[in-house]
Amino acid sequence: MSIWVLRGLRDGVVTTRWPARPDAYAEAWRGPARPLERGGRRTDLTGICPTGAITVTGGTVRVDQGRCILCGRCVAERPGVFAWSKGAAGPAALTREQLIIPELPETDAAVAAARARLAERTRALRRSVHVRHVDAGSDGSEEWEIQALLGPVYDLHRLGVFITASPRHADVLLVTGAGTRGMAVPLRTTYDGMPDPKVVIAVGTDAVSGGLLAGSEGTTSGVTATVPVDVFVAGSPPSPFGILNALLIAVGYLTADGKRSR
Ligand code: SF4
Repeated sequence: MSIWVLRGLRDGVVTTRWPARPDAYAEAWRGPARPLERGGRRTDLTGICPTGAITVTGGTVRVDQGRCILCGRCVAERPGVFAWSKGAAGPAALTREQLIIPELPETDAAVAAARARLAERTRALRRSVHVRHVDAGSDGSEEWEIQALLGPVYDLHRLGVFITASPRHADVLLVTGAGTRGMAVPLRTTYDGMPDPKVVIAVGTDAVSGGLLAGSEGTTSGVTATVPVDVFVAGSPPSPFGILNALLIAVGYLTADGKRSR
């Protein structure tokens, strides 16, 4: 008997049931830093973060999770002010502002408008969905997590989602990387080559904002300058569950706050 058959008999079914059922591993996944509501010394905070993710306005400390590279400096230096966020689903957002914690006052209206726009387009994508991935200057970490989605634990195909090599067959464009200038034209060409309706997901802090490379000559500080992004996934890298969550939001299976929409 082959060793793979023996392993299969020993391990049983390893495939997660998430999102239909909770998954302890997913819930324990460490996400970007977040500010605590109160406590700690709240002065001299902005110089801590290497990517400028931390701001203090009118006494309110905010973390832009779309810029957080999970370096851990804020949590280590000011544990009374910052902590790690946790959970499978996030953070995924329909607007860039939604990744700023605590949310800005104008965020609700912008999210409602983005949700309506996305729902309008994804009505046609509810059965089998094909995904094209473009690496626009990634360090490779997001690719590992996307690759994991195809393995037996996450088994992307069980949800009717398939990777395709051709933009002509793709409904969803997954983009990773800080948006290197050399990849701007290939990325835009891929987007233009996809049929409508189509959805774009920026996977990881680099794709969302450029991360540590934001403002550098060689990048466009994220991919939003090149393609219109519908779902932003923070994390450096985001977990496979985070990417899966964004895919399910993109096709209308989940709402942005993790609830099933059908
Ligand atoms: S973990 Fe690092 S990158 Fe993230 S907010 Fe804290 S200092 Fe900034």
